[in-house]
Amino acid sequence: MSSPVSGRRRSTSPLAEKAVQNPTADSISDSGSSEIQPGDGLARGGAAVSDQHETKSADSPPTKLPPIRNPGQPASKTSRAGTPRRPQGAKVRAALILERLIARYPEARCALTHQNPFQLLAATILSAQCTDVRVNLTTPALFARFPDPASLARADLAEVETLIRSTGFYHNKALNLIGMARAIVEHHGGVVPDNYDALTALPGVGRKTANVVMGDAFGRAEGVVVDTHVKRLAFRMGLTRHHDPIKIERDLMAILPRDQWVGFSHRMIFHGRDTCDARKPRCESCILADLCPKVGVESATSKPRRARFSSADE
Ligand code: SF4
Repeated sequence: MSSPVSGRRRSTSPLAEKAVQNPTADSISDSGSSEIQPGDGLARGGAAVSDQHETKSADSPPTKLPPIRNPGQPASKTSRAGTPRRPQGAKVRAALILERLIARYPEARCALTHQNPFQLLAATILSAQCTDVRVNLTTPALFARFPDPASLARADLAEVETLIRSTGFYHNKALNLIGMARAIVEHHGGVVPDNYDALTALPGVGRKTANVVMGDAFGRAEGVVVDTHVKRLAFRMGLTRHHDPIKIERDLMAILPRDQWVGFSHRMIFHGRDTCDARKPRCESCILADLCPKVGVESATSKPRRARFSSADE
């Protein structure tokens, strides 16, 4: 796929300049030779991923030259292992997209109402397969009744189910909330741990939820939150060829500056809500129309929608 940005726009932003100046780092990261699977370092904890990412940052010298292709020979879309490579030009495109999203949504932040890490953790667990608006209507009563992990750890399951019923999957969510609170009381002195591995060890807390809490409650970027909006938009924008959230996250971590990981997700979610709708993306009025290759947009909008639930979506 040819890049719609190459030669079109020389950005003056530091983000885009850095990406443009070091396309080699992008190519090397595209090698796809070390596919991360659930159970590898990425799934176990952010540190392993971060280390891997940092060794291939734009500031690092290349460790291996990219393969030489004959002029005119199209780039393979898969690695030797048969896994999809990141689309060509994704790093430069990501920088330009990020620049515009920052200008369009300067104040983008987590839409879940919370006052502390415990409330954000509980709200994020409730947000699985549910809108943030619905969660925000539910949590005031829940937090009034159970204001901290200690009170939630002692909660009656049926009472919690009643309080969160409108968010869907309420039985499992209630079990996870109480289990999460008990684990925090038992292992962390009643305080939400500011540690990625400790968070993902809590019941009901996966990679996405841990990223949300680390980024928005503790101000530390351990990964890129890949929810349903980020997943859809990253694919359409040609920033990844994957559909699996863990692999999408790996691609995004490799092409975005770490200090933008948290904000990028929020801005993608805002953009997904107000412009890049799942069924009817408004490409004609989109601020990214000239940068976005709109991968799969036509087929996505012409096919009937199928309900899909997976644990990966949390
Ligand atoms: S609305 Fe269209 S142009 Fe804009 S990000 Fe979505 S697919 Fe791309």
